[in-house]
Amino acid sequence: MSVIGIDFGNESCYIAVAKAGGIETIANDYSLRGTPSCVAFSQKNRILGVAAKNQMVTNMKNTVFGFKRLLGRKFSDPLVQKELKHFPFKVEQRSDGGIGIRVNYLNEDNVFTPEQITAMLLTKLKDVAATALQTQINDCVISVPSYFTNAERNALLNAAGIAGLNVLRLMNETTATALTYGIYKQDLPGAEEKPRNVVFVDFGHSSLQVSACAFNKGKLRILATATDAQCGGRDIDMALADYFTQDFVTRYKLDARKNQRAYLRLLQEVEKLKKQMSANSTRLPLNIECFMEERDVSGDMQRSQMEQICAETFNRVERTLRAILHNAKLRSEDIHSVEIVGGSTRIPAVKSLIEQAFGKHASTTLNQDEAVARGCALQCAMLSPAVRVREFSITDVQPYAVRLAWDAARNEDGDMEVFPAFHAAPFSKMLTFYRKEPFSVSAYYSDQVPYPDTFIGQWQIKDVQPTPEGESQKVKLKVRVNIHGIITVASASLVEKKQDTTQNENIEMENSNENAQNQDTPMETNGGNQDQQQQNGPENNQEESDDKKDKSKDKSKKVLVKTVELPIEAQTHGLSVHELNGYVEQEGKMQAQDRQEKERADARNALEEYVYELRGKLSEGETLHDFVAEDQRNKLVNHLDSVEQWLYDEGEDQNRQVYSDKLSELKTEGEPIKQRRLEFELRPGALDEFALSI
Ligand code: ATP
Ligand code: MG
Repeated sequence: MSVIGIDFGNESCYIAVAKAGGIETIANDYSLRGTPSCVAFSQKNRILGVAAKNQMVTNMKNTVFGFKRLLGRKFSDPLVQKELKHFPFKVEQRSDGGIGIRVNYLNEDNVFTPEQITAMLLTKLKDVAATALQTQINDCVISVPSYFTNAERNALLNAAGIAGLNVLRLMNETTATALTYGIYKQDLPGAEEKPRNVVFVDFGHSSLQVSACAFNKGKLRILATATDAQCGGRDIDMALADYFTQDFVTRYKLDARKNQRAYLRLLQEVEKLKKQMSANSTRLPLNIECFMEERDVSGDMQRSQMEQICAETFNRVERTLRAILHNAKLRSEDIHSVEIVGGSTRIPAVKSLIEQAFGKHASTTLNQDEAVARGCALQCAMLSPAVRVREFSITDVQPYAVRLAWDAARNEDGDMEVFPAFHAAPFSKMLTFYRKEPFSVSAYYSDQVPYPDTFIGQWQIKDVQPTPEGESQKVKLKVRVNIHGIITVASASLVEKKQDTTQNENIEMENSNENAQNQDTPMETNGGNQDQQQQNGPENNQEESDDKKDKSKDKSKKVLVKTVELPIEAQTHGLSVHELNGYVEQEGKMQAQDRQEKERADARNALEEYVYELRGKLSEGETLHDFVAEDQRNKLVNHLDSVEQWLYDEGEDQNRQVYSDKLSELKTEGEPIKQRRLEFELRPGALDEFALSI
């Protein structure tokens, strides 16, 4: 059983594996480490990863990309509407308001959800890992942008579920990078010393993420994050494409905006140009053959010009870099170093913005493309018994403030902030309610989340009844940011007073004085620190677990209480079990179809190869020429020619069996000849015997 880490990028994915000897990045079937986040459909199968990207221009309508940003969103979401404008494939609203991606697959119209498309890519990554490691893959850690909300995180978990992956953790991308940085560092300050503060900047294809992290020996604590989900390398590509579009309209009277294929090719070419400009400040050419109306176009650009054209993007980068200082309450002199990862940090202008903002060189200690996947693999190893790695404690943050609201019928506040922005995560908090009947609570993001809907979920707490005396019962809710960064009401329990003094596992000590408190207002206490991996953070000191408190008080004032788990009905984002099962089944069928198509193609290739190989060896001067009588040889060569003809003709598209039958037929003629050659090699006299017999 292997443990793997997956960096699910908007443009490309990386997979790393934790082994006894360390972390390795896995190459795919094209010997590349990066697998494009691209899924395509054809009449016969799905095409995933590198192969999908390679055929994008010729199969635009059925090649899906950029879907990481669609996860967990509704069709009407303004961000989705904005994304749609750049997609050559069809996207529509589903009956539930969700997103449907319409493609032609197996000669039929099919509508897939972003979760399904993501699952397809994940199955490819799972396959790549399974092939490389020669083992089955189940457990994994997948990266997510730190700004992902509950809806997006749930959608990604659903996608992993469809792909048959067991996600031990959704890990924030910059936290994974921080782990990769910290785990092998030998010179981190001791546990009691002032921590080393490092800023991580990940500027990728679609977004910019910055985090500030405090390191001590054996642990890291994320202090804060600053992100811009609308600022990435692709924004530079689009700005450059707009510039050249305008340029070509002026000079050639060709408008790329009127031709999706031309625009897509332009985007690909400006991306190449952008990369060249990172290494070269001189004027560089851009040439596209047969761009539109069978005409070639060309242009040029130099780095300084690009920086002007993309000024808006660079301004946003600068803003986000400054925001991290504010969010983490750090001054630039408090920062030890700034580590950069992500493809777009290769841009010189970005490096100089970093230098300006922090007064330090951007350092490239980490592999810019692989750091996230490696961190995920490390985390996966830590969470799995399969591989042992060094202990390292990780405390992440929850970037948005979260509010909990409930029915405020009894002069309660009806609403409170459970987690302020940048609260440590994972973390649980206990809230105490006094109720006589079932009730519900709802959670909302209260900050500016990059999401039109701030709703997180609603939880119905069932089976609450008054005490025999008709009084309110004490109900404790555990509100939690779980290991995936998902906010949930993890449990609800009724705390029943008990006169009985016998010891029981379910009985916990409670301070009876608590009854004197205002019974209408929910109280907040910390619900145990089982989620908190970090030991001396401020949150921990300030919020002590209430049973610890009780134990320190005078025992004579205590009565025994019994806690009873209450059923909870949750209404949150994500697929229902029924929907999930349906998608799992559908994915299974598509995989079977892909396998079948692959077997068919393999059988066709095997036949084709046999024809070429045998015919080659039968020709004058080649190895088999003299091992068959001439007329028989001519007959066989004719047969081979006709099979070749057939392969390009009606044999182009046949069932696997048809090809393997034809192959067997040829083999009955070809193999005895090969056999004679072999015998001759082993026993040279055999040829003479053969020559005598014909
Ligand atoms: P995201 O993190 O946004 O989900 P991702 O992880 O797929 O996306 P990366 O692989 O980190 O993104 O970065 C890809 C981006 O980096 C692309 O926009 C690419 O054009 C850009 N990029 C790669 N190399 C260079 C370079 N040398 N100069 C400029 N940009 C580059
Ligand atoms: Mg990335």
